[in-house]
Amino acid sequence: MSKRGKIIIIVAPSGTGKSTLIKRLKEEFRELHWSVSFTTREIRPGEVDGKHYFYISREEFIKKRDQGDFIEWAEVHGNFYGTSLGFVSTKVDNGFSLLFDLDVQGADNMKKQFGDEAKAIFIAPPSIEVLEERLRGRGTDTEDVIKLRLENAKSELKRKDDYDFVVVNDKLDQAYQDLRSLVADLLADRA
Ligand code: ADP
Ligand code: 5GP
Repeated sequence: MSKRGKIIIIVAPSGTGKSTLIKRLKEEFRELHWSVSFTTREIRPGEVDGKHYFYISREEFIKKRDQGDFIEWAEVHGNFYGTSLGFVSTKVDNGFSLLFDLDVQGADNMKKQFGDEAKAIFIAPPSIEVLEERLRGRGTDTEDVIKLRLENAKSELKRKDDYDFVVVNDKLDQAYQDLRSLVADLLADRA
C-alpha cells in the first residue's frame, strides 16, 4: 500500500493575504495538489472556473450537499463553500499531498475527520487595522461585503491559537519564508 498523502490546511480571516501566500506555495511546491472547492459566490475578475473554484448555483450546491458529495461544507460571508469528498479521498489514498484554503469551520471539520493527519496553519494579520486596509486596498469587494468580512475576522482571530501553527503576515517575504519552511517540514515529516 502506498503512503498516504499529507493534508495541509491554510486558514485565515479574509484579507489577511492567504491567497497571495498560497499562490507562492503552489508555484514552489509542485508536488502539492490543490483542492478546488465548490462555491456559490460570484466569480471575481481574474478568477477561472475549475481553477480557483467550481462556481455553482445555490440549487446545485444544495443538491450536491444532500447527495453527500462534500467532505465538509460551510456558509461563509453569506455564500456556500464545500470540499469534494471524492477528490480528497482519491488523492490522499493514492499518496498525493493536498493543500486546502478553508475557513475556521472547514478547518475544524477536517480536523474532526482526519485528526492529527490534517495540519492546520493559521495566517494572522498584524492587526485588525492592517486587515481593513488590505481588504479595502484589494478593491474587489463592496463596502457591505468589507464590513461583513471584518466582523467575521474579529471572531475568527479569537481562534488563532486553536490550530497547529500560526504565521503572522506582516512583511510578505518574511511571512512566506516562515510558511514555506513549515510546509517543507510537514511534507518531509519533520513537523
Ligand atoms: P485573502 O486571500 O486572505 O483574502 P489576499 O491575498 O487577497 O487576501 O490579500 C489581500 C490584499 O492584501 C491584497 O491586495 C494583497 O496584495 C495584500 N497583501 C497581502 N499580503 C500583504 C502584506 N504582507 N503586506 C501588504 N499587503 C499585503
Ligand atoms: P473567498 O470568497 O474570499 O475566496 O473565500 C472566503 C472564505 O471561504 C475563505 O476564508 C476561504 O478559506 C473559505 N473557503 C474556501 N473554500 C472553502 C471550502 O471548501 N470550505 C470551507 N469551509 N471554507 C472555504
